[in-house]
Amino acid sequence: MKQENEIISTKKYKALIIDDSEMNREILKGILSDEMDIVEIDNGEDACDYMMNHASELNIVILDLVMPGMNGFEVLKFMKYKHMMESLPVIMISADNDEHNIERAFDLGVIDFVFRPFSERIVLRRVLTTINLFKRQRDLIATIDTQYKVDDGRTDDLTGLDYKQTFFNKVYTHLKSNPNDRLLMIAIDIDHFKLFNNYYGWERGDRYLKKIARLMREFIQMNGGMAGYLGGDDFALLCPNKREELRKFYGRVIKSGQLAEYQVGFSPKIGIYEIDDNMESVGSIYDHAVIALDDTKGDYTKNVSWYNKSMYQDVKDEYELLVDVQRGIRDGEFTFFIQPKVNMLDGRIVGGEALVRWIHKDKGMVSPGVFIPALEQNGFISNIDQIVWDNVAAWQKDWIESGHEALPISVNVSRADIFTMDVTGFFLGLIEKYDLPKHLLEIEITESAYVEEDTKVSSEIGKLRDAGFKVLMDDFGSGYSSLNSLKDMEIDVLKIDMKFLKMDFSNLNKGVSILESIVNMARAMQIPTIVEGVEEQEQVNYLTGMGCNYAQGFFFYRPMPREEFAKLVENEDNVDHEGIHISRLDPVHVREFLDENLYSDVVVNNILGPTAFYEVEDDEICLVRMNEQYCKLTGLAYHPEQIAEQDAKGENYIITLEGVHPDDRGTFRKLIEDAYDDPLNGASAHIRFRVKSGDYKDYRMRLFFLRNRHNTRIYYASIMSTEDF
Ligand code: C2E
Ligand code: MG
Ligand code: MG
Repeated sequence: MKQENEIISTKKYKALIIDDSEMNREILKGILSDEMDIVEIDNGEDACDYMMNHASELNIVILDLVMPGMNGFEVLKFMKYKHMMESLPVIMISADNDEHNIERAFDLGVIDFVFRPFSERIVLRRVLTTINLFKRQRDLIATIDTQYKVDDGRTDDLTGLDYKQTFFNKVYTHLKSNPNDRLLMIAIDIDHFKLFNNYYGWERGDRYLKKIARLMREFIQMNGGMAGYLGGDDFALLCPNKREELRKFYGRVIKSGQLAEYQVGFSPKIGIYEIDDNMESVGSIYDHAVIALDDTKGDYTKNVSWYNKSMYQDVKDEYELLVDVQRGIRDGEFTFFIQPKVNMLDGRIVGGEALVRWIHKDKGMVSPGVFIPALEQNGFISNIDQIVWDNVAAWQKDWIESGHEALPISVNVSRADIFTMDVTGFFLGLIEKYDLPKHLLEIEITESAYVEEDTKVSSEIGKLRDAGFKVLMDDFGSGYSSLNSLKDMEIDVLKIDMKFLKMDFSNLNKGVSILESIVNMARAMQIPTIVEGVEEQEQVNYLTGMGCNYAQGFFFYRPMPREEFAKLVENEDNVDHEGIHISRLDPVHVREFLDENLYSDVVVNNILGPTAFYEVEDDEICLVRMNEQYCKLTGLAYHPEQIAEQDAKGENYIITLEGVHPDDRGTFRKLIEDAYDDPLNGASAHIRFRVKSGDYKDYRMRLFFLRNRHNTRIYYASIMSTEDF
């Protein structure tokens, strides 16, 4: 740590620069030092330490996003957690203007961004403006606060509730003058409220807020307590611990978000803290309610959460894990195991997957399940991944140098890596550093990384493939993507994970038919597949039976130290250098995609995305089967009675063209012909469907011809909205 403020300065401001690059610090110092004192720190950990003691002396923090150890996001999280952001503005520095990173940084409270290379005048101006604006804003808040203190009881016009400061003051007074009252602090906010506003407009948003405020006022009128509106979509309530009344209250609050047309995604969330010491500061009391509130986030089934100590512990644990991981990295405790991938027909090894292992000095071997999820959350995973990838490349190089023919080894790339570093650039760097052929390093990206409309991940995959790397989609079947998105997802190999297919005894058949449909569909799209998690002979039998020949699983090999792997593949009899490719289209196995099992709701709803089956006979196009998502997207959801009626009559179909835009009906018919002509790839086109409002909405429809039945042709259809939500 380097500090340059030993002598007493006359300068007006003091800035903290946190950046691991000395050159960057020098440049920034050059730009800013005429105007302010500079404290330089080259890593996140020391910076946090420093701020704990000196935050109040600082006027601004200039923070680098990408640093080894604690990165910029982690520093921000820490500052937020310690409530430093309220009094200390942060400007972030970054080399690229990645929108996700910027958005995330703003969400964490960053005031502004500057991009390298720096423009001297712009940096100086931004820093000074930020300091001034921040100061003015604080002065303003201070005056408003004092006004409120004088004019106590001032309330927010919209909600009719006390503003934050008034509310906090009242809570303070109440708690201190009634030290023995046992009370609750409740924090309420609305999930994705910004999105709600975008979607339904501010006016509806305001009404929603008012409704919650009204319920809160009613509650305190009946039961005592006080309510505050903290701005945005944040509410707080101090009230007695009357469980029954409370249950009714939050039932009503939650219901207010569930008007038929509002989606579950906009539900109010409630965090409750039972105050056990009225002398605790109001800020900290409210924080505890917010920690409970955070516990409900991202879980659609959970609206209410009571604070418990373990929640605080979780936050603390995460921090301690981070510190321990950094130590582990420094002490070289991270290494990788290799699990062989085999061709099941002869058991020979076609390649391997590198899996990180932490050989902890006290705990022994720690498996990735324990530390990866937490590290993915804060982007820290990329430090470890870079080590693993580098080690794998170095090992491959050694193997070749010692006179062997190497097999491709795949490594895992997290979604977080893609957002925090230049993944393709890094791999190209490894290829150069170790002078390796590119096919020896394969890249696995897990299915959950391919969330819809995520252009960042798909563009990185495109970059990797353009650069000559093979990309495998990991964990397919875990539920995020749908088969029809495969077509647009340029990948080389599909990895299906058996454990996601839930093949227990009770629904083994269902699992098998899902698996089979995935395998068939992938084959139709010319994507090779490998099945992961194969543990039993029986599984091997039915996999090979359906023409799926590659597997990775305990039945063959467990992940093993690299030396053990080396011993195995040293014997060329154990090795198959052909790699994973599409199985020969064996006519016995090319079953129709559709059998009765495939009509099962599980398949249709969970695996395929919005899908339907059409039957076409001459001029007549009938929708014979569709799932709920399809129904919703095409607007058919709005006359479910009709569907029910037809179902009851056993008719079981609807003439489809009714809901299609008149101008698109020709396109639709052409699509049917095109799909018939190209059964392997199917055909796609834009089709407008009528939705509830009577308007038409544009969808991309993809159609596959499946088979002839009597005089009709059966088609499989999938659709995707082309408009942003
Ligand atoms: P994954 O990439 O899907 O790796 C396969 C996981 O399944 C491995 O767990 C492997 O040991 C396990 N597995 C393989 N065959 C079987 C089987 O027959 N039965 C069962 N029950 N399990 C089997 P592991 O090594 O614990 O890794 C877990 C996950 O952690 C990986 O799932 C991957 O997502 C992540 N991971 C592992 N290494 C790395 C890494 O270096 N970087 C990143 N970012 N993630 C990694
Ligand atoms: Mg993997
Ligand atoms: Mg996997």
